[in-house]
Amino acid sequence: MPKSFIAKVPYDASHPPVLAVYCSDGRFTDAVEELAQHLGHERIDTLTLPGGPGLLNRWSADYLESDVVSRAAHFLIKGHDIAEVLLLAHEGCGYYKARHGALGAEFIAEQQLKDLQEAAAELVKAYPGLTVHTYRVRPEGEKIHFEPISST
Ligand SMILES: [Zn+2]
Repeated sequence: MPKSFIAKVPYDASHPPVLAVYCSDGRFTDAVEELAQHLGHERIDTLTLPGGPGLLNRWSADYLESDVVSRAAHFLIKGHDIAEVLLLAHEGCGYYKARHGALGAEFIAEQQLKDLQEAAAELVKAYPGLTVHTYRVRPEGEKIHFEPISST
């Protein structure tokens, strides 16, 4: 049986005002937290599922999946007074490969872009004061690049 453990990180009872929605893929977890810190956020709420913000686009995701993830996002935004949302899609995502792999990497990149833009638009429509940032995440060698996508 594992021993009990006390974290070094102190507990802060206030909720961070930022929510990051991204893929469960652990190759990017630390980098996303580093991006958040770079943007001035020491702590973040997270909503991670395979495919990340792709699941917020109810036009392209499975209805049930999209419904659950949208509800979770709304729950956090409302309940935790979220002021800013980061939506991140990464290159080589297994969720997109499983859904659209046969259509090729270029199609997937376009679909991810559409999903990010659709998800951002839906969130801003629901919460007009919300700031939403979208990023395409791209590994290159040992570096992980975050490329902001301008919302249309
Ligand atoms: Zn992924």
